[in-house]
Amino acid sequence: MTERLTQLRAEFTAELAAAVTEADANALRDRWVGRKAGLITAEMKTLGKLSPEERKTAGAQLNELKTEVESGIDDLLNRFAAEREAAQLIAERIDVTLPGRRIAAGHLHPITLLRHRIEDIFVSMGYAIEDDREIETTFYNFTSLNIPDNHPARSPQDTFYLVGENESTLSLRSQTSTMQIHAMQKRRPPLRVAAPGRVFRRDTPDATHNPMFYQVEGLLVDKGITLGDLKGTVEEFVRRLFGPDTKTRFRPSYFPFVEPGAEIDYTCFKCHGDGCRVCKQSGWIEMGGSGMVHPNVLRGVNIDPEIYSGFAFGLGLDRLCALMYGLDDIRLLYENDVRFLEQFS
Ligand SMILES: [Zn+2]
Repeated sequence: MTERLTQLRAEFTAELAAAVTEADANALRDRWVGRKAGLITAEMKTLGKLSPEERKTAGAQLNELKTEVESGIDDLLNRFAAEREAAQLIAERIDVTLPGRRIAAGHLHPITLLRHRIEDIFVSMGYAIEDDREIETTFYNFTSLNIPDNHPARSPQDTFYLVGENESTLSLRSQTSTMQIHAMQKRRPPLRVAAPGRVFRRDTPDATHNPMFYQVEGLLVDKGITLGDLKGTVEEFVRRLFGPDTKTRFRPSYFPFVEPGAEIDYTCFKCHGDGCRVCKQSGWIEMGGSGMVHPNVLRGVNIDPEIYSGFAFGLGLDRLCALMYGLDDIRLLYENDVRFLEQFS
């Protein structure tokens, strides 16, 4: 029996050394200590043929071999598991010194950037920023602004009407000037407010028109305010927006809610008045309307025009934005094409 065991031990040692995979090790376990057909199991069954004395010794030796076989296979399997884990750690290793992937961050829309810049200028000049409603009654949108009943701006061809009748008819506001009335109703003069916001007109969209666009408007009311104050304020505003050398000119014009009214032009920010593509060679760019608040508008909000006077001026942000960024078509600003918007980040 001892000889037989020595032979089995040698055989097992050789087979264990030849096992190179987990499958080999598992096959080895079945072959040697498998419950039904294992070599050692089979050897155990032969013990019954021996004498009791021999059986005792051989049984002990056989058990010893069985323990050796089992621990040999366990050690091998443990080694394979450790190797597999080490390989996985290497495969999944992260090189923390590599530069990270850049995460695309959002940014503000070009119109918002321009609006913030203009708001900052108004604030630096002592104006409060008002954010007002976009849906107005006919009273606020037209009547309170001294816009006569037969004025074409009131026509449904020009204005987006919603519901209601007469003075309480609701429409999308046609200009940010509606803010003037709310501001003067809320607080008494002296007051300085600026209102940026969207306005709506029934325009057919093209390269220079959009049915929705942004305006910003400043209003100042106090005792003894004159046209000189308006000019001085606009000149300072324009210098802060376009640079200290920018010049301003006023062209008489008519808007129902001011008297007198004027269009404001400023010297081109690109060529500084020499003439270029941006200013169509004229050296000047139109900014927007302005004027002294009409006495009827003041009376409508119970401010005595004999005591108080004021001025207002406004500009459109979309066309200015298009000029500043050299856009040929203002519709680009509202198409939300990320490829277009990304250039402003
Ligand atoms: Zn120019």
